[in-house]
Amino acid sequence: MAGKKAPTPPKGPRVARTVSALRKTLGADVGKHTDARTVALVPTMGALHAGHLALVKLAKRRADRVVVSIFVNPTQFGPAEDFGRYPRTWDADLKALAGENVDVVWAPTADVMYPQGFATRLAPEGPALAGLEDKFRPHFFGGVATVVAKLFLQCRPDVAIFGQKDYQQLQVVTRLARDLDLPLKVIGAPTWREKDGLALSSRNVYLSAQERAAAPVLHAALSACAQEIRSGKIIAQAVDTARNTISRAGFIIDYVEARHAATLAPIHQQKDGPIRLLVAAKIGTTRLIDNIPV
Ligand code: AMP
Repeated sequence: MAGKKAPTPPKGPRVARTVSALRKTLGADVGKHTDARTVALVPTMGALHAGHLALVKLAKRRADRVVVSIFVNPTQFGPAEDFGRYPRTWDADLKALAGENVDVVWAPTADVMYPQGFATRLAPEGPALAGLEDKFRPHFFGGVATVVAKLFLQCRPDVAIFGQKDYQQLQVVTRLARDLDLPLKVIGAPTWREKDGLALSSRNVYLSAQERAAAPVLHAALSACAQEIRSGKIIAQAVDTARNTISRAGFIIDYVEARHAATLAPIHQQKDGPIRLLVAAKIGTTRLIDNIPV
C-alpha cells in the first residue's frame, strides 16, 4: 500500500555550547569569507515568552540566519538579586525556537563565557549612568556591556535585536556598538504586552495572583501620564500623578521618570523631547520595569 510519508517534524536549531563549536557552526554555515548570508543575533537569558519570539520573528525578517543566545549572565546580577531563582526553562525554550526555525542556539556555560582568569570588564558611561537602572543596580550595565560585547564578537552578527522593554539597556548597547565601531546594526523592537497592558517578562512568573492583578497599573499610569503631557500638563505634575497611582496600587517605586528618549537626560518641557517615560518598581519581592514614548 502506497501510504503517505509522515511529515518530518521541524528540525531543531543547532546548539553550540563552546566558542569553538559556535565558530565551527557559524563558519561552516555563514563564514563571512565564503558565505554572503547575513546573521541576526537575539541575545536572551532564556525563559522565553512571546516577547522574545517577536524579536526572533523580526530577526528572521532582517537576516538570512538567526542565532539566539541563551545565557543567564551572572555578572549583571547583584548579590541580593534573583540570579539563583531566575527561571530556567531549557526544554520549552528549545521547542519554541525550533517552532520559529531558528538556526543556532548559542548556550555557553558560565565557565565558557568567563574562563578561569577572566579579568576584563567594560565600564559604559553616557546612557549607562543616567540615574535610572544604574542607580539601583550599579553592577548591571558593566555586566551587560561586557557580555554583549562578547556575544557580538563570538557571533559576529550583521544585526542584533534588543527589546525596547529594557529601554536603558537598548540605549547602552546602541552606544557600545557605535563607540567600539562594531560592524553591526542594533535594532530596538517594540514591547509585547498582555491584553491588560502588563509587559511580558520572564519575571512575571514570580507574581502572586494578587500582585499580577495589580501589575497592569504600571502601563496604565504611564499611558495616562503620556496623555496628560501631550495635552499640555506640566511634566513634573503628570509624573507625580503616575507615581501616586503606582504606589497606591501596592508598588514600592525605584523611579518614575520623564527622560529624553535618546540621551536619557532629565526633561522638563515637552518641546525638549522626544520624551520617554520609564518606571521601575517592586511589588512583593518582584521588581518590574516598563517604559513608553510620549
Ligand atoms: P531577557 O531574556 O529578559 O534578558 O530579554 C532578552 C531580550 O528580550 C531583551 O532584548 C529584552 O529587551 C527583550 N524583551 C524582554 N521582554 C520583552 C517584551 N515584553 N517585548 C519585547 N522584547 C522583550
